[in-house]
Amino acid sequence: MTVTDPVATAPSHPFGAPRLLAGVAAHRALTWAEHRAVHGVPALRPRAWLLESLRAVNLLGRGGAAFPVAVKLEAMPLGGPMTVLVNGSEGEPASCKDRALMTVAPHLVIDGALVVTHALGATGATIAVHDHRAHAALAAALAERPDAAAVTLALTRAGFAGGEIRAVVNGLTTGLARPGGRRDLPHDRGLDGRPTFASNVETFAQIAVLARLGAAGYAETGTRDEPGTSLVTLVGDVVQAGVLEVANGTPLDALLPGRPGAPVLVGGFHGTWVRSTAGLTIDRAALRASGAPLGAGVIARPHPGTCVLAEVAAVSQWLAEESAGQCGPCFFGLPALAEDVRAFAAGQGSEAQLLRRASQVRGRGACAHPDGAVQFMTSALVALADDIEVHRAHGTCGRPPSSILAIPRRTS
Ligand code: SF4
Repeated sequence: MTVTDPVATAPSHPFGAPRLLAGVAAHRALTWAEHRAVHGVPALRPRAWLLESLRAVNLLGRGGAAFPVAVKLEAMPLGGPMTVLVNGSEGEPASCKDRALMTVAPHLVIDGALVVTHALGATGATIAVHDHRAHAALAAALAERPDAAAVTLALTRAGFAGGEIRAVVNGLTTGLARPGGRRDLPHDRGLDGRPTFASNVETFAQIAVLARLGAAGYAETGTRDEPGTSLVTLVGDVVQAGVLEVANGTPLDALLPGRPGAPVLVGGFHGTWVRSTAGLTIDRAALRASGAPLGAGVIARPHPGTCVLAEVAAVSQWLAEESAGQCGPCFFGLPALAEDVRAFAAGQGSEAQLLRRASQVRGRGACAHPDGAVQFMTSALVALADDIEVHRAHGTCGRPPSSILAIPRRTS
């Protein structure tokens, strides 16, 4: 079972009743009839209702940045031509929750697109997806239903920077899938230059559930500060590898039984290595405050008896090569940092040098890639301090490399 295979999706589990994955009993898409039996037809609500409900449940975007969805909706103009972008590009290499969702519950994603399109009075919605299996499931779902003429599908390129929402906008508009500047926001100028409400596919599925349940019903699970559920991708030595839907507030230790003190990666390739998950829960604000944001929902723990440092070095090298090459700090800084990490794995390396280089990269560049890469590397320095000492003393820890984080093959 690989983490990139949506068949790992487990719709029934002990971490709260599933909502997004409700009714999913087989590794195939729910049909339109099956979907309606579980979710009904999309609950199309006025803009003011949706905005108030989003605020009431504090829905945070599920692509990684956890931006409040209500703020994003409120930023859209009150009239004029505008559009909606459902980002299913899933750039985070360790995550497969979005692909799984689109593959087994495509109608719920479409429902969310229709709810937002209706609330805004937008001309239509585009679902951008790069995974062919998910694309096929969505295409079949669109062909099945009579109410989705305003929704279109677009194939995008895979890749970390290419999956970033502004890169997706640029890719669909100009054919060049590169992020613009950090202030280049889709609600100002998005697809074809029009104001665009853009968010991640899971966000849209959550909006569809919210529209149906209302704020009070939506808040019947989860926590007071973050009601609802989340899709997470569990990787490696975990309770169940694959995609799970868990109630917000679920303790991380429940997903990572045994082995307290073993290194855990929270958030994926742009994530944070931690040595203890005691007291941590699926709560985006609390995880961010603890220094380990949930990001795209990846929680990974290497198997015992493997060399985590070697895997950190391999991923760091991949992150350095993933730069789109348009910003100097990223283009030049990340390879130097990756070389520093490789030196640690070889029993050498200087913490001071790595931290100095990290400070020269952090906050630079047109997108979040350098910041995420630096977080991955510098947090490993702290969480793997014992391993680094062993490597420094003996040149190696003698264990085989861990390989839970499947590094994507490059297509170009
Ligand atoms: S920061 Fe790096 S990945 Fe992002 S646009 Fe610039 S060069 Fe590309």
